[in-house]
Amino acid sequence: MLGMRRFGFVAGQWLSFKQSKSDGEELTRAYSIASPPAEDPRFALCLNRVQDGFMSKFLCDMKVGDEIACQGPFGDFILHPPMRDTLFIATGTGIAPFRSMLHWLLADESRHQGKQLWLLFGNRYEKDIYYHEEFQRLTAERPNFHYRPVLSRGSAEWTGLRGYVQEHVPEIAQGRSDMHAYICGLDKMVKANRELLKSIGWDRKSIRYEKYD
Ligand SMILES: Cc1cc2nc3c(=O)[nH]c(=O)nc-3n(C[C@H](O)[C@H](O)[C@H](O)COP(=O)(O)OP(=O)(O)OC[C@H]3O[C@@H](n4cnc5c(N)ncnc54)[C@H](O)[C@@H]3O)c2cc1C
Repeated sequence: MLGMRRFGFVAGQWLSFKQSKSDGEELTRAYSIASPPAEDPRFALCLNRVQDGFMSKFLCDMKVGDEIACQGPFGDFILHPPMRDTLFIATGTGIAPFRSMLHWLLADESRHQGKQLWLLFGNRYEKDIYYHEEFQRLTAERPNFHYRPVLSRGSAEWTGLRGYVQEHVPEIAQGRSDMHAYICGLDKMVKANRELLKSIGWDRKSIRYEKYD
């Protein structure tokens, strides 16, 4: 990596990728950076191949050595001080900014300040859960990090939480006007969680979100 420059970004930010279709039409799409800021200029993306989607297919099919143009980093979906107990809510690839934030936070006591961090992560099936083993390891190592995967169509063997993520928000957030929440995923899910938090008395200023659609 000698000679490569550090790539500066804040955990939670995204990049804009640009690619031309065969008819010449130029497409840009946003993708969150899924790794924490580091000395290493490489970064990770968490990609879902959307059916009939051009850019997600293009990115998923890239081979080592292929190139694509991108701009950024962009975005204000980042951790906002002061640090408080925090609930992160994601579904699917909405996990990407939280993987970046959580690794960044947990790498240094002065960043998380011992605050309690919950991750509610919703998917359909067990096989869909990105970074499952990684978050299980992290939650075993870190007493203040609480990993709560939720499956809407879990098999009979699944012993974890079931249903939709918002059904599990009250057990963490009820009566807690002193916390922050960050929500990331598709519009419907973001809306459901914001409404739920407001219905249990949260101030909307304590809730930040990023919509993918
Ligand atoms: C700030 C931001 C960050 C994002 N970060 C990520 C990320 O980290 N990883 C990631 O995979 N995506 C991410 N997205 C979504 C991404 O930008 C694209 O929308 C997605 O990859 C689809 O693009 P496409 O060109 O493949 O499909 P398109 O041609 O744009 O869409 C094809 C069809 O699929 C539907 N569709 C679009 N997006 C989705 C979706 N996410 N799930 C299901 N159906 C969809 C569309 O309504 C359309 O009907 C992010 C979006 C935003 C705004």
